Amino acid sequence: KEPLLTTNDVRLYYGEHEALHGINLDFNQHEITALIGPSGCGKSTYLRCINRMNDLVYGVSITGSFRLDGHDIYSPKQDVVALRKQVGMVFQQPNPFPFSVYDNVAYGLRVQGIKDKKMLDERVEASLRQAAVWNEVKDDLNKNAVSFSGGQQQRICIARLLAVRPEVILLDEPTSALDPISSAEIEETLLKIKDQYTIIIVTHSMQQASRISDRTAFMLNGKLVETGKTKHIFLNP
Ligand code: ADP
Ligand code: ADP
Repeated sequence: KEPLLTTNDVRLYYGEHEALHGINLDFNQHEITALIGPSGCGKSTYLRCINRMNDLVYGVSITGSFRLDGHDIYSPKQDVVALRKQVGMVFQQPNPFPFSVYDNVAYGLRVQGIKDKKMLDERVEASLRQAAVWNEVKDDLNKNAVSFSGGQQQRICIARLLAVRPEVILLDEPTSALDPISSAEIEETLLKIKDQYTIIIVTHSMQQASRISDRTAFMLNGKLVETGKTKHIFLNP
């Protein structure tokens, strides 16, 4: 089966500084790929190329090819807003909108033009359940999302993303700022939903990579140093 997303000879310069030195990596549907490596090796930079958060920044230049479903996502014809719907992202710091839990999760659905209250209610509930935060917020759906704990906010952000059913989910150290219980909930959520998505997670934790990923890619100084199936990488001495 063809990978959903392929990236080839990716190079990125911040001004004169070459932050990515020719990355080749493909991603299969229904798999979690962990990107791992020391701070500053280029993990976030690479991840941000995939939803085009980098290329509109002054001084940044990117070369290489990125194909999603066979389409070149850097083609001049590519609509960046449409791409961001296909490729959702979760950041290290939870970033809910400063309005109610309900409105956070309904946001993307309303943007899509869904107005039917019953349909919105159902999708909001289903997404919050998928993100394993429903029980904690169901009596407070009208409360401001920023009033919840960091771990709850992050799961609300995941629900907001799942509500619009992207194809690819990018997570940039999504549990680094969280308590262990929320981190475990998020890992469990990713394992439960991976059958429906293509997931790429940046982590500095080998333990996290070995617990949840199907493939692991190690980066060092802007290069890939090792890639393969996680079960092979972590079992080999
Ligand atoms: P990681 O996610 O692995 O910690 P980053 O992708 O954040 O690494 O950074 C890779 C390299 O690019 C580092 O040397 C970092 O200092 C540099 N870098 C990251 N963002 C910028 C930027 N906006 N402008 C200039 N250099 C940057
Ligand atoms: P095997 O089944 O022999 O373990 P793999 O399926 O693990 O082989 O990987 C075959 C090659 O696919 C790897 O060497 C790696 O370079 C490449 N590869 C492509 N995409 C990825 C990815 N997302 N993560 C890791 N490796 C990848």
